[in-house]
Amino acid sequence: MAIKIHSSKIISDLPVEVLSGLGEAKKKVLNKINIKTIEDLLYYFPRRYVDRSIHDQFFLQEGPITLLVKIQSSYLAHGRKSRFIVNCKTIQGNPIILLFFNGIQYYRYALKKDKTYIVSGKLEMFRGTPQMIHPEIEAIDQEDLDNAIHSGGIIPIYSTTEALKKVGLDSRGLRKLIHQAIQKIQKEWIVPELIPENLRKKYQFPSRKDVLIQIHYPDNKESLKIARRVLKYEELFLFGALMHRKKEIRKSFDRELKPLPFGQSKLFETLQKNLPFKLTQGQIDAIKKIIDGCQKEYMSAYLLQGDVGSGKTLVAFACALHYIENGIQVALMAPTEILARQHYNTLTTLPGLLPGVHLDILTAGESKKNKEKTLDRIKRGDSNFIIGTHSLIEDSVTFFNLGLVIIDEQHRFGVNQRELLRKKGRNPDLITMTATPIPRSLCLTIFGDLEPVYLKEKPAGRKPVKTLWLKEKQRKGLYKSIRKYVSQGRQCYIVYPVIEESEKLDLRAATEAYEELKNVIFPDFRVELIHGRMKSDEREKIMQDFRNGKIHILVSTTVIEVGVDVPNATIMVIEHAERFGISQLHQLRGRVGRGSEESFCILMSDSDSETAKERLEAIVNNQDGFELAEIDLRIRGPGELLGIKQHGLPDFKLADFVKDRKLVEISYQDAMENPHLNEFAIKFIQKSFSEGIMVFPN
Ligand code: ADP
Ligand code: MG
Repeated sequence: MAIKIHSSKIISDLPVEVLSGLGEAKKKVLNKINIKTIEDLLYYFPRRYVDRSIHDQFFLQEGPITLLVKIQSSYLAHGRKSRFIVNCKTIQGNPIILLFFNGIQYYRYALKKDKTYIVSGKLEMFRGTPQMIHPEIEAIDQEDLDNAIHSGGIIPIYSTTEALKKVGLDSRGLRKLIHQAIQKIQKEWIVPELIPENLRKKYQFPSRKDVLIQIHYPDNKESLKIARRVLKYEELFLFGALMHRKKEIRKSFDRELKPLPFGQSKLFETLQKNLPFKLTQGQIDAIKKIIDGCQKEYMSAYLLQGDVGSGKTLVAFACALHYIENGIQVALMAPTEILARQHYNTLTTLPGLLPGVHLDILTAGESKKNKEKTLDRIKRGDSNFIIGTHSLIEDSVTFFNLGLVIIDEQHRFGVNQRELLRKKGRNPDLITMTATPIPRSLCLTIFGDLEPVYLKEKPAGRKPVKTLWLKEKQRKGLYKSIRKYVSQGRQCYIVYPVIEESEKLDLRAATEAYEELKNVIFPDFRVELIHGRMKSDEREKIMQDFRNGKIHILVSTTVIEVGVDVPNATIMVIEHAERFGISQLHQLRGRVGRGSEESFCILMSDSDSETAKERLEAIVNNQDGFELAEIDLRIRGPGELLGIKQHGLPDFKLADFVKDRKLVEISYQDAMENPHLNEFAIKFIQKSFSEGIMVFPN
């Protein structure tokens, strides 16, 4: 075989083909799964491990075991089924039989008399003699046990694919390759450190070389644990470094707004004076924190987090006023038309406010003529506070001087959509708002480049929403209660799930239920139906009537999930509650409990599935959105929780958003405080995280 020479000895420079036994076919398949260098190969971590430490006692017991044996004799037996029988003795002198039914020709050739092997498998007693059927078997020089790769210690098991198997890279084949690389890094290849020296010292981390050896071939369980921890830290730290870098890059962005100190906005003062209530301290702090960002010459980006009903909208409005006062345009994008209209209405009805604030609204429901006029005003800067839906990101929209972008319910938008809006200004500042809180571990990683602003406190006087889980047989009682409260002047939502896959069916169910409620059960109340398939002006009319108290009971699909704010509505009934996720349920519940009256949330479900039970009970027992977010993360995992499509979770190989929460905090903090990385770490980031390439260019 030709000797493969490569000038560098650094694992990230060495292509996998420097390993022996790695031909074109294997190389191709490996490259396809992004294993191009020795470093990549070493970061192909075992899926699990099996303990194949050699049994060193005289007595043998049944069950999984690894033994050192010497072959005494072997023969082929023909019966109903041919088998190859191998008689061995363990080093302790016990007789044992190995049995092979498949691949007989191979074993006849490969297993040699008087040679020593490590065998691993399940030991059984057969007529008084211990035997093993199809054990893992590996030839070994007795003196050189350290060289065992398939047995004789804690052994890595790798996941493989059909494509890998086809070229001989099953778990065993991969093990051979990786073991080769491990031997080489022990002797000559170089594994540069990625984590800064001071941090490695602080945590007494072993060298990266040792860590990589231990993750594949751990000496013992303890050393494996340490290796896993260091590698988790490594990926979290490097991702944190990427986030830090993103933040830093913003500092070079030239922006519209010149510094404006907090508390010096006349509009904001007017707003405070005219509000029917006082801002909570939490709101004031949040506004201050965001406006303090304006002291800086560069663009800032915030993630405003608060529980349902904590009053995020007002915080965003208040911030907007600071910009508007300085002649800067503000755009607020909401995920639904209903919500956009609600924001618009709130603003237009804020008492005494708004000399100098010129509002516009842009949604798909607008007439063409109207829209053209609106577009024109936005372009000329005649309107300075523009509220809208996705319509805002259409090509036809041009701003005069967009300086602040506010995204409400950010999870409903994709990253690209948010970027599109931002690009319509000259590096406008950004406030993104969440609908319900996001678990902190996700916040620090996925949104690690945004400045978090927390709104923990809710407006005073809010009572917890009484939450009950009812079964179908309790429906009569439910209707009786609804009748009672509606007669006292309260209003009620009844929500039906409509999911895309079964939209028609779901919609029919909702419609039928509505007909019955309206005609049979509550003929004396005004009951209306609202759903996403209606024309927007019809929908708006119904919402208007509901807001004004003309409609008593609003039967709805999830269009009202987001942000709708009608304080007099105090009962929320959620049909088929098992079909909603935790944050959705919490969102829906957040539609009530907004006034001072006692409110109720009724979960209707006959489901007895375990996960449904877990979710519904979480909602019944918990009012706090921050706690529910953590529970949701635990049950559904980060992808489901955030909607993978929109976010693209960082590709962590080992770190887990639930189990490694503490490590996430620590590594993020460290990354913010230790931004100077060596070239190897930067290269590693560029390779590991897709944004890395843009953020750390060559
Ligand atoms: P969310 O944070 O869920 O978006 P909203 O911004 O819709 O909540 O606010 C919920 C309700 O609370 C609105 O009716 C709003 O007018 C009211 N609100 C906001 N701030 C206060 C406050 N400081 N005191 C009393 N009510 C408030
Ligand atoms: Mg809101």
